[in-house]
Amino acid sequence: DVDVRKVSILGKDSIHCGFHLIPYIVQTVIDTLPSSTYVLVTDTNVGNLHLSAFQAEFDSRKGNARFLPYVIAPGETSKSREGKAEIEDYLLLNKCTRDTVILALGGGVIGDLVGFVAATFMRGVRFVQIPTTLLAMVDSSVGGKTAIDTPHGKNLIGAFWQPEYIFIDAAFLETLPAREFSNGMAEVIKAALRYLRYTGVSRSVLPRIAPIQPTLSSIPDLKAVSLTRVQTAAIWNETEFAALESRAAEIFAAIQTPSVNFAGRTEATRSPAQQLLLSVIAGSIGVKAHIVTIDERETGLRNLVNFGHTIGHAIEAILTPAMLHGECVAVGMILEAEVARQLGVLSQVAVGRLTRCLKAYNLPVSLSDPRITSLPAARSLSVSKLLDIMKIDKKNSGPQKKIVILSRIGATYEPKATVVADKVIAKTLSE
Ligand code: ADP
Ligand code: ZN
Repeated sequence: DVDVRKVSILGKDSIHCGFHLIPYIVQTVIDTLPSSTYVLVTDTNVGNLHLSAFQAEFDSRKGNARFLPYVIAPGETSKSREGKAEIEDYLLLNKCTRDTVILALGGGVIGDLVGFVAATFMRGVRFVQIPTTLLAMVDSSVGGKTAIDTPHGKNLIGAFWQPEYIFIDAAFLETLPAREFSNGMAEVIKAALRYLRYTGVSRSVLPRIAPIQPTLSSIPDLKAVSLTRVQTAAIWNETEFAALESRAAEIFAAIQTPSVNFAGRTEATRSPAQQLLLSVIAGSIGVKAHIVTIDERETGLRNLVNFGHTIGHAIEAILTPAMLHGECVAVGMILEAEVARQLGVLSQVAVGRLTRCLKAYNLPVSLSDPRITSLPAARSLSVSKLLDIMKIDKKNSGPQKKIVILSRIGATYEPKATVVADKVIAKTLSE
């Protein structure tokens, strides 16, 4: 019996979280997604580290089916029309048909690109997300958004295409560079900030969750509520945020100490730090999965996950690729919290707490961070340039800019992004 924690999305328990899941992943795929051909696409970094384990599992379990691994170059440049065509040509050359199942093993680049290939190959084939970065685990692999970049901008061509499964194997984080881990923590902290219910965990897995209870304080609520209602409600609020704040060192330690492979037996075999890490990951996935479930095509509510992203994206547009997405969002969160403070909605104390928490995960919190000021691209960071870029944000209605305004740690001012005057944003940016 494998120790897996399931999170539901769009009415199905398709997100499976745990440690050292590769044998479980391969067996589940073969058992429940029967096919003549399994294609695994990864990049050279992840492939060098983890492909052989998948190869071995498929070799011993696949029967007559084919297992075709395909390795591409790492980095955002692969997420292009050419990169997509290259994978498609490989599939066509190998006579892949409609029954092909594609596995995307890697970070957000692989997930977005391979997901889009799956969405259009033979008018759509089944695919599986196996995210290997924290950012992809808690954010990009959940929600069914797939896309490629063009010279006109990022993620401009794509489709909504839901994976059959999202397998979250936290053991992959042990090979992830520390900077990439911090990058993902920005989204984890963002998820912990808002007061949100999520319909996360089905009753059948509750007994497995019980041992994790002491790690996050709201888990007892989850249990109490879910025993009486099928739709569970865990609440991420100030208490979860406090756990992230106070246990940063432990969470870092959880990925820096290689875990023993217990072949996913029982939770008793995990260290407390690993259990905490898994709770934190599953918690933020639960928040995202809930929002996707109630607002799959991103109309209004799903915009709430964009806290920190209005200003963060503008910063990222100027500083990419030197600064990573989560790093720009971390600065964006503080600046947007400052906007909320200017508006008299959020307290200085709350801004200070958020700042300290992001710093604890080694994230930048202002545009004057030396990691930013030392970059040549930082010379183009001006208030007018940032405001200009914010004009083309997808959340906008006409020229008005929208920002998710926090009213305190654990709540937003409105159940959607708020229209904010340019002069308020400009004042915050110039301070
Ligand atoms: P994201 O968009 O999720 O941040 P990318 O797909 O750009 O991520 O991946 C970031 C970098 O980390 C890439 O160079 C990728 O090859 C590498 N990488 C991804 N997962 C791992 C892992 N588990 N261990 C080591 N390196 C990884
Ligand atoms: Zn983001």
